[in-house]
Amino acid sequence: MPASKSQGSKRNDLPKYWTISRQKHSAMEQETILNKTETQVLRYLKRATKPFGAYEIKNALGIRHPITVYRALERLARLGFVHRLESQNAFIACHVPNKTHYAGFIVCRDCGTVTEIDTEAALSKLQMQARDRNFEVEKSTIELIGRCNKCHDRPMARRSATRRQ
Ligand SMILES: [Zn+2]
Ligand SMILES: [Zn+2]
Repeated sequence: MPASKSQGSKRNDLPKYWTISRQKHSAMEQETILNKTETQVLRYLKRATKPFGAYEIKNALGIRHPITVYRALERLARLGFVHRLESQNAFIACHVPNKTHYAGFIVCRDCGTVTEIDTEAALSKLQMQARDRNFEVEKSTIELIGRCNKCHDRPMARRSATRRQ
């Protein structure tokens, strides 16, 4: 019965997962760390190019209780396998889960495609400014909203067609 108690007390183990190699990480991902639902959810998000909310994931995977999905997402996010997109209250698989990082995203407002971007250089500057103000950063969200190259081309063509005088 005390089996499910491990989650909270394992907090100190987390940094280890961040620093191990990617290969080892994916082996752990498959075999040891993740339970069945977590594996299912992660696999689903890895195949997607768009972020998904908990209910969409629940329905797509046929999971009965929302709380099961919430728990899985919460743990996956804590371990760095997925990121939460604050603006959409949705989740996306991380592309570099072996590395400690604050995630940043470019989000297409037309087709909904989300791509993770490297924010390291930008963030170190921002963090320096925060540090100068004695501000302790706990979380950061960088989301660049706009249109991807596919969507960008379409309306432009339409616009130039209607613009003819
Ligand atoms: Zn990431
Ligand atoms: Zn697009």
